Amino acid sequence: MHKVIVIGGGNAALCAAISAASEGSNVILLESAPKLLRGGNSQHTRNMRVCHSNPKQTLIESYSFEEYYDDLLKVTKGDTNKELATLVIKNSENLYNWMREKGIYFQASLKGTLSLSRTNAFFLGGGKTLINRQFQIAQDLGVQVLYDHEVQEVNIDNNKVSSLEVSTSNGKKIFKAESYVVASGGFESNRDWLYKAWGKASKNYLIRGTKYNQGKVLKSLLNQGIQDVGKEEQGHAVAVDGRSPLYDGGIVTRLDCVPFGIVLNKYGERFYDEGEDFWPKRYAIWGRLVAAQEDQIGNVIIDSKSFNLFMPSVFEAIKDDTLEGLAQKLCLPIKQVLNTIKEFNTHVKEGNFDLNVLDDCQTIGLKINKTHWARKIDSPPYYGYILRPGITFTYLGIKIDKNARVYMKNGNSLENLFAAGEIVAGNILSQGYLAGLGMTIGGVFGKIAGKRAANV
Ligand SMILES: Cc1cc2nc3c(=O)[nH]c(=O)nc-3n(C[C@H](O)[C@H](O)[C@H](O)COP(=O)(O)OP(=O)(O)OC[C@H]3O[C@@H](n4cnc5c(N)ncnc54)[C@H](O)[C@@H]3O)c2cc1C
Repeated sequence: MHKVIVIGGGNAALCAAISAASEGSNVILLESAPKLLRGGNSQHTRNMRVCHSNPKQTLIESYSFEEYYDDLLKVTKGDTNKELATLVIKNSENLYNWMREKGIYFQASLKGTLSLSRTNAFFLGGGKTLINRQFQIAQDLGVQVLYDHEVQEVNIDNNKVSSLEVSTSNGKKIFKAESYVVASGGFESNRDWLYKAWGKASKNYLIRGTKYNQGKVLKSLLNQGIQDVGKEEQGHAVAVDGRSPLYDGGIVTRLDCVPFGIVLNKYGERFYDEGEDFWPKRYAIWGRLVAAQEDQIGNVIIDSKSFNLFMPSVFEAIKDDTLEGLAQKLCLPIKQVLNTIKEFNTHVKEGNFDLNVLDDCQTIGLKINKTHWARKIDSPPYYGYILRPGITFTYLGIKIDKNARVYMKNGNSLENLFAAGEIVAGNILSQGYLAGLGMTIGGVFGKIAGKRAANV
């Protein structure tokens, strides 16, 4: 029987494995994580972005191809592979239907999830349930899953993958197949590589997802002349609670309270307009903004008027009845914090506070104004959170075409190698991010890669 090896254990790998097994192939899936920690970053997700012309089960209204495409062009500033971007968007509805047919369930969007009920389909029970279901579907189709199998090298000879070198708990092993799918994510968990890309600041980054995305397969391929796409220093990062674990903090550590307060650096000074635009359009810049501050630290301060307006972090806010007390608890220079808040409050122009529009509550006359949702910080108790950059994933990847086929720098494609997911996201996402696109890219190319690999 035609044998396909899939590298990775996240959404892209599982879609590829299910797709190849549905074509009748004998599929082996190599996942570097142990069973308990399987599922890569996909286990932390909640939704995927889907184009649709009519209301659809859990998706309301419509989201046209043109609007989706336009949204993508905006975030990438037009720097995307237009053919692949079109293919992903056009196939997103198919992907949704295919997942449902295979037995994956969706639910209505959660409250406080960045107003995505029209554009994003939410996985029932979140990414962990999705992954568990996908493993079950794959195994029911006969896919053999091998955990604790980390691919170290992909050996390429004469435009073909000849074998894989894999470390296992029983030592190094060689695996061979007719065709291969790589879906092993980015390199965001590899701290040495992050240091190379981002320098000293990266030491203070927290990794929001799995520690198993070490970029070993990516490195092996790039070392052998595979065409790279995307930039090493591009990726997705958000501001997370500074108390989050080094890895796998997941969605619950993200802090969405920035637009409701002010954010101070370690010197107690504001450094960016906290109300520049709707939070879904701005949350992804705050990782970088905090990363650019000294010691990569930020401090968000809100008062009791705003406390119930955002999804809470898994950690309790730091709280005090006075601003002095709060500044002290946040280890900030008290005098400067009081000055900054006094100055901010003095420049607030009262308006009609409304989270649903770019309202007229703003500051006027400050060096850095807050342009919307600006309200005086004057109602105790006061709350603070410490922010750190939380890296979600990296964009450097490998070049593919619409058949998920992988290319060498010399322009030749590999006969039996296909790729999907984060490792190819840089073809479409050169910069910026559109919530839910990561899982759509993984699913669309996973399906294609699996089918192609099964038919080499
Ligand atoms: C907290 C968080 C929330 C997110 N929320 C969303 C969301 O709601 N919607 C969305 O679209 N995107 C979201 N993302 C991004 C999303 O997780 C990724 O776009 C998506 O999971 C990529 O899928 P993937 O299968 O390519 O990678 P992953 O799911 O990361 O899977 C990679 C797999 O490869 C395995 N692996 C790595 N190296 C090797 C190796 N050498 N050998 C064998 N196996 C290897 C890993 O163990 C892992 O199983 C989120 C990310 C995070 C961290």
